Amino acid sequence: MTANKILFLVLDGISDRPNPSLGGTTPLAAARTPVLDRLAAEGICGIMDTIGPGIRPGSDTAHLALLGYDPYKYYTGRGPLECEGSGIHMEPGMIGFRCNYATVSKDGKVLDRRAGRIHDTAVLSKAIQDGVDLSKFGVEFTFRSGAGHRAALALKGVGLGHCVTSNDPKKEGVPPLTITAVKKAANHEKTAAVCNEFVKQSMPILFDHPINKDRVKNSLNPANIVLMRGAGEMGHFEPFFEKYGLNGSVIAAASLINGIGSAVGLTRVPVPGITGSQDSNIAGKIAAAQKELDSKDFVLVNIKGADESGHDGLAEQKKNFIEKIDAVLEPLLDRKDCIIIICGDHSTPCTLKDHSADPVPLIIRGDGVRTDDVVRFDEYTCAKGGLCRIPGTALMPIALDLINRTHKFGA
Ligand code: ZN
Ligand code: ZN
Repeated sequence: MTANKILFLVLDGISDRPNPSLGGTTPLAAARTPVLDRLAAEGICGIMDTIGPGIRPGSDTAHLALLGYDPYKYYTGRGPLECEGSGIHMEPGMIGFRCNYATVSKDGKVLDRRAGRIHDTAVLSKAIQDGVDLSKFGVEFTFRSGAGHRAALALKGVGLGHCVTSNDPKKEGVPPLTITAVKKAANHEKTAAVCNEFVKQSMPILFDHPINKDRVKNSLNPANIVLMRGAGEMGHFEPFFEKYGLNGSVIAAASLINGIGSAVGLTRVPVPGITGSQDSNIAGKIAAAQKELDSKDFVLVNIKGADESGHDGLAEQKKNFIEKIDAVLEPLLDRKDCIIIICGDHSTPCTLKDHSADPVPLIIRGDGVRTDDVVRFDEYTCAKGGLCRIPGTALMPIALDLINRTHKFGA
């Protein structure tokens, strides 16, 4: 049977650097991963610079590259993608921000940048949506809650620019900053003024809101200010279906990944109990992906937890989570109708607690794939694989060719 679909599994931040607490090896190499190893044995392996050698990727730029959208052309900041991920439909030219609910004291100092890790803020966001009026600028806005203390703000109007600063002081005990234009031009200055007005009008709405009065009564930090950052102008993304002729879905907990998916026109598939963390329902994600493949040509699944352990510097936890991922992948071994791609989007070394440019390991497995001698999925072994070292933007063309959907170049 020729594989005619693609299952693309991104294990976020899976790869690492040698760690002293693991006897000088990586969490992935230290983990027991019989399923991933079998997929590696049945497939072709390699390592990949998701953006380019020595380029330290964000999850957003990495995923764009992996989907074949050159981030240098398409990436215009995190804000618009977070907006898409929060369910705001972004039209080209709209300005997007990622936001946090935070707590300020009566004398105007930021006390808690996450407002006591408040969640379920939809009512607060609706109060802001109904109460703030930016019409004197000729600007419409959409403000939506995200997961936890997060939210997103989108501005629509003529003459808006995206080169503006944040009001987040990035530390507590100091007042929020005034948002200013980074470049001296009327459009950026207008956006800065609109943002400052948005914050000014939303604060009394939040201060007086019953949810916050209750929180204060219960000694919880109220969500009484919106901090915004990551400004960007929504670009034009060539729809995935037009680009590849494939209809597809995205399954992810992170709103940023969902935002990238929806920006390129992938259908977002909700899965109960997914958190983007160690406790996520990752078995549910794989089950949902299998179901999607009944009707779709392409499914992107992102599993986030290992990246979180990397940021927290917890090598043992990362290794244990990788073993948990391995166990839920077992049903994929029987899947013969699709090309299965498994890779990271970047390395998140526990020793660095951030992303690094170290290349990520990669498996491509499916009918018609020329196999190699690699029988283990880790950074060291995959480096000896038949794919050698490829850039992230090469992945979609390779996968498309394996399902015989590429056009011949030349006669
Ligand atoms: Zn990532
Ligand atoms: Zn990360």
